[in-house]
Amino acid sequence: MITLDGVGKTYPGGVHALRDVSLTIEAGEIVGIVGPSGSGKSTMLHLIGALDLPTTGSVTIAGQQLSRLSDRRLSALRGRAVGFVFQQFHLAAGVSALDNVADGLLYAGVALRERRRRAQHALTRVGLGHRLTHRPHQLSGGEKQRVAIARAVVGDPPLLLADEPTGNLDSVSGAEIMHLLSDLHGAGTTVVIITHDRDVAAGLPRRVELRDGQVIA
Ligand code: ADP
Repeated sequence: MITLDGVGKTYPGGVHALRDVSLTIEAGEIVGIVGPSGSGKSTMLHLIGALDLPTTGSVTIAGQQLSRLSDRRLSALRGRAVGFVFQQFHLAAGVSALDNVADGLLYAGVALRERRRRAQHALTRVGLGHRLTHRPHQLSGGEKQRVAIARAVVGDPPLLLADEPTGNLDSVSGAEIMHLLSDLHGAGTTVVIITHDRDVAAGLPRRVELRDGQVIA
C-alpha cells in the first residue's frame, strides 16, 4: 500500500525533517508512527497522504509514485485512496453530522441525496446513527471524532491516516476511538496512526519509531 524508498524531506530554511527513510506498509496493516515532538511524524504522514512530495527518494501509494503524478492526479489519488482524521476534528461548525460526513463525498461527483444516504450509513457504522442532525457543538469530543472518522471513510478509501486521533479526548473516549479504528482495520482498511500516547501505541501490532527524521526501530 505504501513504499518509502530513501526518502528525505528538507523544508525551506534547511530543516531536514526526514533523512533516508525506507519503509513498507502492506495493505491491511495497522501501524503506529511514534517519536518525540519534532521527530518527523507529521512530515511522514503528509508524504504518505500525498499532501506533500519528498525532496529526495520516492513515495509510492497504491502503486502510484507520487513524484510522477500531475497535481490533478495527486488530488485524485488523495480523494480516492486516502481518508484523513485529525486531532482537532476539523468539522464544519453549525452543520449537521450528516452533512459534515456527506461533504466528504463532494469531490467524488455524487448527487446530494446519494451523499446523504452514504453519510447515514457511515455514521451508523461508527455508532452515531442516532445523532444525524446534531451539530458539532451538540456532540461530545468522542462523538465529534466519530463523525470525523465517518467522513474519512464515507468514500471507502483503502487507506486511513490519523494524526493524534485521541489527542483531545479523555482516556475512555480515546479507547473507544481506538476500538473503532481497529474495527475499520478488521474490515480491510490499512490504518496509519501518529500517536504520542504510550497506551495507544502499545495496543498496535506494529510501531515505526522516528527520532531526528530517521527510523530508529
Ligand atoms: P513531529 O510531527 O514529529 O512533531 P514534524 O514532522 O512536524 O515532527 O517536524 C519535523 C521537523 O521539521 C521539525 O524540526 C519542524 O520544526 C520542521 N518542520 C515541519 N514542518 C515545517 C515547515 N512547513 N517548514 C519548515 N520546517 C518544518
